[in-house]
Amino acid sequence: MPLSDIRSRVESALAAAGRPADAVKLIAISKVQPLDRVEAVLEQGHRVFGENRVQEAESKWPAFRERYGDVELHLVGPLQTNKLNKALDLFDAIHSLDRDSLAKKLANAVQARGICPQLFIQVNTGREPQKAGIAPEALDDFMETCSTSYALPIEGLMAIPPADEPTEPHFRLLAELAARHGLKGLSMGMSGDFEAAIACGATHVRIGSAIFGERIPPSR
Ligand SMILES: *Cc1c(COP(=O)(O)O)cnc(C)c1O
Repeated sequence: MPLSDIRSRVESALAAAGRPADAVKLIAISKVQPLDRVEAVLEQGHRVFGENRVQEAESKWPAFRERYGDVELHLVGPLQTNKLNKALDLFDAIHSLDRDSLAKKLANAVQARGICPQLFIQVNTGREPQKAGIAPEALDDFMETCSTSYALPIEGLMAIPPADEPTEPHFRLLAELAARHGLKGLSMGMSGDFEAAIACGATHVRIGSAIFGERIPPSR
């Protein structure tokens, strides 16, 4: 679907929810997509992208940034601490802050650099054992640790709802948790459900296949 169609669907969802037209940031998730598709979206003037792997991002975005100027890059996948410095070189926002050990190393690195990316705490709203994220009931303590022990500014919360369940209850739970902590950022909603996420208050939607087409796995 052309980017302009996705943009108008975002705008309609915002209007239907009675929210301002600029209340949502559209993050184009370019992971695994062929470079010509990403380039086509850059050519249309879009400058906000997301990747889920540090190494993959490193292989494409420095070159795109040289050609297209300022690109805002969001990390939406898990972050291993041994890739932390690379991630801080590349990304303007990290949506996957999900554990104490990462928060601690992040705090040290941020202090050394004097600049901090936008941070979202990933919440495992479905309590899925195989999925990253802080359990909803552990969020209070983790927020407290981030602010008191590590002085990390938290922009908001992020969730990836279980694939086999209606997503709206998860969006509503995430919105409640954010409101309780006075956080304004809500990173939720993907290709199949971004309109529902916007109705529940999403401020950042992460849309991949609806913009670029189905992901083509790299051949080996
Ligand atoms: C891949 C991915 C997306 C985009 O998924 P689509 O269904 O293609 O829109 C969004 N968020 C995260 C964390 C992802 O890994």
